[in-house]
Amino acid sequence: MIEKFKFRGREMFLLRDDLLGEFNGNKARKLEYFLNSDLKGIKRIVSHGSSQSNAMYSLSVFAKMRGLEFCFVVSHLNSNLQEKPVGNFKFALQNGMKIFVAQDRRSLAKELASQDDAFFIEEGVAMAEAEFGFKTQAMQIEKWCEKNSIRPDIFLPSGTGTSAAYLAKNSNLRVFTCPCVGDVKFLQDEIFALDKNSKVQILNPPKKYHFGDLKLELYKIWREILDETGVEFELIYDPVGFLTLFSNLDAFSGDILYIHQGGILGNISQKMRYERKFKGEL
Ligand SMILES: *Cc1c(COP(=O)(O)O)cnc(C)c1O
Repeated sequence: MIEKFKFRGREMFLLRDDLLGEFNGNKARKLEYFLNSDLKGIKRIVSHGSSQSNAMYSLSVFAKMRGLEFCFVVSHLNSNLQEKPVGNFKFALQNGMKIFVAQDRRSLAKELASQDDAFFIEEGVAMAEAEFGFKTQAMQIEKWCEKNSIRPDIFLPSGTGTSAAYLAKNSNLRVFTCPCVGDVKFLQDEIFALDKNSKVQILNPPKKYHFGDLKLELYKIWREILDETGVEFELIYDPVGFLTLFSNLDAFSGDILYIHQGGILGNISQKMRYERKFKGEL
C-alpha cells in the first residue's frame, strides 16, 4: 500500500510495508522465498546477529509458523536482558527461540547448522534467496507508478544493504539509500557483494552514526515525524534515513517514495534505552 505523506512541508509517498501483517517490513520481503519453499527435510534454522534485531524476531515468527526449531547466536547478552527480556528478544523467546552466546557468533551458528536437517541464514538474511521478495516489491511499486503516472525516486535506509540492492536490481526506478551501520564505503562493498553491477546510490548521513547510537537528534526527528504525521517509524534506521534524506534533497529529481520497512516492535527496547539515558530531556 502506498499513501501520501507530508513531513516538514515536503510531500512524499510512503510504501507501508510495516502493514504487511504479523510478518512485516523488509524482513517479510526477505523471507518470502522461504515462505514459498517447502524446506523439505529441514527441522532447524540457525542465524546470528544482535540480541534486539528485527531479523531475529521475524525468523522466530517464521520458525514457529513452520514448526521449525530456531537457534540464534549472539556475541553477548547483557544480564538485564537475560533477567528481564523485552522487545524483539522477549517475543522471539516466546516464539520458542533458543539463544546461544559465542564470541565468534557466525562460526557457532554455522556449526549448529552443519547437519543435513538444518539451514543456515546469514545475519539480517543478507543472502541470495532474499531477492525473491524484492522482485514482488518492485513489481508492486511499478504497477502503482503506472496507474498514477509518476516515476518517483525511491529512498530506504540500509543495514546490510540487501533490501536496497535487490530492489534496485529489479526496479527501473532510481534507488537511494544511506548507511546506518558503518560508512558509505562499507555499505557500497556489501551491496556490490550482492550485485556487482548495482545502481543503488548511497547518500552520506549528515554525520557519522554507529549502529543503534542514542543521539537526541535521532530521537527528536522520530518523535517529530510521529507527532506530525501519526506514522510510527522504526527508531534505529529511520531517524538516520530521514536526516539523510532531508540533508540531500537536491539529489532527488522529483517525487520521493520512502519505504517504511517495519520493525517497530524493536522500538520498545530502544525507547527504554533512550529514556534511561536522557530521562527528563526527551
Ligand atoms: C532490517 C532493517 C533495515 C535494514 O535492512 P537491510 O536489508 O539489512 O539493509 C532497515 N530498516 C528496518 C526497519 C529494518 O528492520
